Amino acid sequence: MLDSNFLKENNAKHMWHPMAHPADMRNNPPKMIRGAKGVEITDIDGHTTLDAVGGLWNANLGYSVDSIKQAMTEQLAELPYYSAFRGTTNDKAVELSFELNEWFKPEGLTRAFYTSGGSDSVETCLRLARQYHKVRGEGERTKFISLKKGYHGTHFGGASVNGNANFRRNYEPMLAGCFQIAAPWTYRNPFGTDNAEEIANRCIAMLEDEIAFQGADTIAAMIMEPVLGAGGVIVPHKSFMPMVRDVCDKHGILLIADEVITAFGRTGDVHGSRLWGVAPDMMCTAKAITNSYFPFGAAMMGEKVVEAFESNKDAVGNIGHGYTYSAHPVGCAAALATLAEIKKAKVWENAEARGIELQNGLEQLKEKHQIVGDTRGIGLMAAIELVDDRPTKTPASKPAIAAAFDAAYEAGVTIRVSGNNIILSPPLVITADDVTRMIGALDKGLAAAASV
Ligand code: PMP
Repeated sequence: MLDSNFLKENNAKHMWHPMAHPADMRNNPPKMIRGAKGVEITDIDGHTTLDAVGGLWNANLGYSVDSIKQAMTEQLAELPYYSAFRGTTNDKAVELSFELNEWFKPEGLTRAFYTSGGSDSVETCLRLARQYHKVRGEGERTKFISLKKGYHGTHFGGASVNGNANFRRNYEPMLAGCFQIAAPWTYRNPFGTDNAEEIANRCIAMLEDEIAFQGADTIAAMIMEPVLGAGGVIVPHKSFMPMVRDVCDKHGILLIADEVITAFGRTGDVHGSRLWGVAPDMMCTAKAITNSYFPFGAAMMGEKVVEAFESNKDAVGNIGHGYTYSAHPVGCAAALATLAEIKKAKVWENAEARGIELQNGLEQLKEKHQIVGDTRGIGLMAAIELVDDRPTKTPASKPAIAAAFDAAYEAGVTIRVSGNNIILSPPLVITADDVTRMIGALDKGLAAAASV
């Protein structure tokens, strides 16, 4: 095993990290994780913490699920790889497609297109949405509408529908024809109200307005997260997504649900669209589909889309899109074993119950710590927004937020900081004691942030 000083030194020298400034790696080195067990991770110095980030919203069953590891190992021995392009496929991919079809039956998402992760799933849906309209002879429908604060990954299409300037500015110009409307966010919005239902109505009015402005016949799809994750865990009023569905239907616009975070239990329901009672036309999934053990995703297609492609005999119906690792047999085996575990444990039920405890705990932290401007979340996705001053909602400083991370880590819990938010997305199998442990460490973290 390599010496820990050697590793720390060479991390800064030879590796660039996602979503980080390269120069920061030396001054503020990341925790180097070497092991994980259950819902805990251990760093290279032997310090063990509860993983309140769940990897990156994706280790939903924790790190010790032997059935997934075994399925992957067996698959590696049997068939470590084969292509699913045209002439060939593999048995695990078919088995998984059957399983996903069962899983998404209520929404009528009957075809899976496999990818290597969330950004790929988003790109797949955006590209196939354009093609769907071409297949149907409405090729001028090419534009996309999305929500400000939405996050849809890092490929050029996904980044173009992202609603956060941090992920766009340095990479402009983005894909033409992408437009954002305000997200239904109670804490910060341009409407001067914190009434969630009213905000949802205002956002829908903006959506209608944007569609009229662009011309409905130029718009391919609306893409949205049922609960906005990376943008700061923004939970829309329950009326919002059903209203979006209605607007899309009215104007012949496809609805793409980006469920890279919310699929497979995180919101306390099986997935986010079901939570709101909506059947999207396409759904992007990834992350928890393999419990994070393999980079994998599935872009799910609804009946309307399937019908359009499969009834079209011309070249325009040919799918000119796909990845070398689409339907990777090891990923498919991992996903099959993961879905079996999720179903057996009904993890969304635990996510709902622990989520209520977590929200109550966060509420108490808000009462105690003035630095907390807002707490929000649903199921086991939550955010604490840190502010310098409650009335003006001025975001807390970077050093304050860094101090929260350090103190929580010291107290035995790894949290995630993003902008002026603390983001929590622990494995869905955490216990009530784990929630108590999280709240205790956050208490220390917030005290440390306030003293900066
Ligand atoms: N969509 C959403 C909603 C996401 O949260 C993410 C990642 N956090 C992505 C897409 C991109 O997924 P990946 O990082 O696996 O490419």
